[in-house]
Amino acid sequence: MPISRFLNTPRTFSALVLLSCSLLLPAFATAFDTVILDAGHGAHDRGAAIGYVYEKHLALDTARRVEQLLKKAGLKVIMSRSRDVFIPLQDRSRLGNSRGNAIFVSIHYNYNRGGSGAGVETYYHRSSSYTLAAYIQAYLVQRTKMTHRGVKSASFHVIRETTRNPAVLVECGFVSNPSERARMMTGEFRSRIAEGIAQGIVAYRKAD
Ligand SMILES: [Zn+2]
Repeated sequence: MPISRFLNTPRTFSALVLLSCSLLLPAFATAFDTVILDAGHGAHDRGAAIGYVYEKHLALDTARRVEQLLKKAGLKVIMSRSRDVFIPLQDRSRLGNSRGNAIFVSIHYNYNRGGSGAGVETYYHRSSSYTLAAYIQAYLVQRTKMTHRGVKSASFHVIRETTRNPAVLVECGFVSNPSERARMMTGEFRSRIAEGIAQGIVAYRKAD
């Protein structure tokens, strides 16, 4: 049968409409509804530490604040840890791959010798995660007015091995920097950090 006759058959036409609609669906299906939040370190793994200021506590508190904000925005949230426990890196990336329609965001605080390092930076590994990293970094800088250290590529385990979903790692300031450390010890500042991360995620989702 000639193709024009084929297209003119009403039943075939509806089948073609259905087919083209289903071909469009994968584009919508990539819109995520779940954020997997990974608070870095835990238990004996303190992360960066100066005196009694430990990265593991700052990261968990920040992740919990982000969790609340994302839930208010209507997103589902899965936490790699909600307590001061040790989670091996493999378990964190396994969680990052445990479901689709999700993004993975790992939260850390930074450290450098000498204490001169300052500002925030967001890491990605695969290029498909770059846009998410750029959104979070932009909103984080806007919300906190901290130094923009950039959106950077790195091979950290959790963002390298989380392959099923966009995966980024945020460094929310330097524990080793006395003035940044003083700020991050306040809940008000950690709320700003959390707002920057959450707003970046929500804006990325709208743009997706
Ligand atoms: Zn860390």
